Amino acid sequence: MSTAIRTCPLCEATCGLAVELDGARVVAVRPDAEDVFSKGFICPKGVSMKELHEDPDRVRVPLIKQADGTFVEATWDEAFAEIDRRLTPLLEQHGRQAAGVYLGNPSAHHISAIIYSRVLIKALGTKNVFSASTVDQMPKQLAAAHMFGSEVTVPIPDVDRTDLFLILGANPLASNGSLMTAPGMRHRLQAIQERGGKVIVVDPRRSRTAQVADEHLFIRPGTDALLLAALVHTVLEEGLTTLGRAEQHAAGLDELRAAMTPFSPDAVTGATGIDAARIRELARELARTPRAAVYGRIGTTTQRFGTVASWLVDVLTTITGHLDTEGGGMFTLPATGVPGGPGGKPPKVGRWASRVRGLPETFGELPAATLAEEIDTPGDDQIRALFTIAGNPAASLPNSGRLTAALEQLDLMVSVDIYVNETTRHADVILPAPSAMEKLHYDLALYGFAVRNVANFSPPSLPRPEGMPDEWETLLRLALIAGGQGPDGDIDALDAFLASQTVQRQVGDPRSPVHGRDPEELLAQLAGRRGPERMLDAMLRGGPYGDAYGAKPDGLSLEVLEANPHGVDLGPLQPRLADALKTPSGKIELAPPALLGGLPALEAALDERPNGGLLLVGRRHLRSNNSWMHNLPVLARGPERCTLQVHPRDADRLALTDGGQASIRSRTGAVTAPVEVTEDVMPGVVSLPHGWGHDVDGTQLRVAAQRPGTNSNVLADEELLEPLSGTAVLNGIPVEVGPAAVPEVAGAAAADA
Ligand code: SF4
Repeated sequence: MSTAIRTCPLCEATCGLAVELDGARVVAVRPDAEDVFSKGFICPKGVSMKELHEDPDRVRVPLIKQADGTFVEATWDEAFAEIDRRLTPLLEQHGRQAAGVYLGNPSAHHISAIIYSRVLIKALGTKNVFSASTVDQMPKQLAAAHMFGSEVTVPIPDVDRTDLFLILGANPLASNGSLMTAPGMRHRLQAIQERGGKVIVVDPRRSRTAQVADEHLFIRPGTDALLLAALVHTVLEEGLTTLGRAEQHAAGLDELRAAMTPFSPDAVTGATGIDAARIRELARELARTPRAAVYGRIGTTTQRFGTVASWLVDVLTTITGHLDTEGGGMFTLPATGVPGGPGGKPPKVGRWASRVRGLPETFGELPAATLAEEIDTPGDDQIRALFTIAGNPAASLPNSGRLTAALEQLDLMVSVDIYVNETTRHADVILPAPSAMEKLHYDLALYGFAVRNVANFSPPSLPRPEGMPDEWETLLRLALIAGGQGPDGDIDALDAFLASQTVQRQVGDPRSPVHGRDPEELLAQLAGRRGPERMLDAMLRGGPYGDAYGAKPDGLSLEVLEANPHGVDLGPLQPRLADALKTPSGKIELAPPALLGGLPALEAALDERPNGGLLLVGRRHLRSNNSWMHNLPVLARGPERCTLQVHPRDADRLALTDGGQASIRSRTGAVTAPVEVTEDVMPGVVSLPHGWGHDVDGTQLRVAAQRPGTNSNVLADEELLEPLSGTAVLNGIPVEVGPAAVPEVAGAAAADA
């Protein structure tokens, strides 16, 4: 028996796990009490890592689809040869834009996917890149880029030191934080209350977090930006503005003041449903509380004013003196971080546009809601070959019915995935990644959003099956095929080139601690490591806590992390505004013109009032994770989770009964779902979680298929996008609801097929 200490890769919380092993058999997964960050907390999903590893439905060898539509097992060489045989002539005939790439949410949790997917994209030479970001957090990243100069310079609520925590559209008790890596949120929220502080939740649902909060305010879906504008308006109008540490750095206060003029509390109360007096008092509370943090998440991003709402969260933080201060919104300094400072560049947006709708790219990505039309609309540069990496767009993107049909039209689809799911069933070749237990782990992306600076590396806990390449090797082999070097290209040569590029960047950056050093000398110090290990070692050693390749002997390196399996605590977040800012001006841009451009539409929304219609919102559950953890018995058991929550008043009006079936329809399709009558959702709002609908043919998800739920993205409209970031509107979808006997509209059958 032995115990492997590792970090859970399943959500953003990065909890420490103690995996008990009997040889190659996983006996149990328990919390790692010594983890420097999670300190013994894990959720039920962490426990499910054993079942995930053992899941008989998990794909373990490459699969190639036959002419009759069935998959057969293949060797790795056969699979890569098949991809080369079909991709290379396709690219020669139709050009590089005929390829598309979709990166799913788990890609953000795995260092190999983060680093090496980019290599594949570059080798393909396509601009048709899509990811789960535009059905998730892209508005926050865009707003941060305009305000602070980088899409990863996002202020993180300093929850462990705040005394007033205002949460909008987020449910951290279910998510354990998102763009706020914070394991054990229940304990962290309790601690706020125990030190006399207060938690306030603004949400159309009384979520688990709202239930434990000191105050919950119902808000009509899609109106958070109006509430935030009114809070900003009040602070500015009542002379409560305090810039604090931002004083020397803020620009655009006068423009902001002028722009906020229309959004008084009285003006927004009708549309938001929140009392004007309460809005004023809330603004005053935020302004007078020395340690206060404002946090907006999925309900504020995947909605029609997502970027404006995300911007105003940070404006509110800034003008109440809480930016870059303890207990407020602070910037992380991750171990792999690179310095900021003056000389930044404008956000990389709008450099090209989507072919069909002409929608602008954001940080190199096109809106994921355009994927179906880019496949099913004929013409030059139509996507004919699609790579999906740890993604299930058929379940996760708007108008699933259209996308499902579009996937069938592809000439080639290659999926790097561990399941035959609603998306990968359409693939021609499926290349499995190793089990999470068989991979190294470092949360390259998520430590950039953590409430404390930490670093934790996990080596593989178990060896990979004989012959299975690591995920990074698979991605590099695909990149070599895409680059025209065939299925047997030299992975090690490409890997060495990538490491060399990383070191060259470090020595060429005047702000780097290794600026001007001999790159060959640094590369020699990385010798003996390959792939993500070498890249991570380079980033750590050249990072802000690094050993500068030996120049600072007490600094971090991968070797240090290997010697500290429970992680290295780098301390609480520290003020670092001047260093973090990367705007061209070197200032905090309080009123970026691009974001001011979103205000006319917001102003028009002031006149909106409830009209008797229903708006659909999503919700999250602790035992679920988007679309992909429903095949694990330990998580699947318990009450039905994919229910339509309806307020009793609406249920009476619509003749819906608790436990009965409802038909829900939108412009794009219709589904049925069991009704849950509850006062936890506000009148005029219904809630259905996303990621379900596992009753389609051709998947290999036997547990999930027993309780398939219904796919809410059949109802999400690919035409409804937040205009600044191209993010899909997934909260606040107009729907009609009735007893399930109501006939379904055309399109539903295709969507559910
Ligand atoms: S909260 Fe997230 S990281 Fe922690 S155990 Fe659960 S799934 Fe894993």
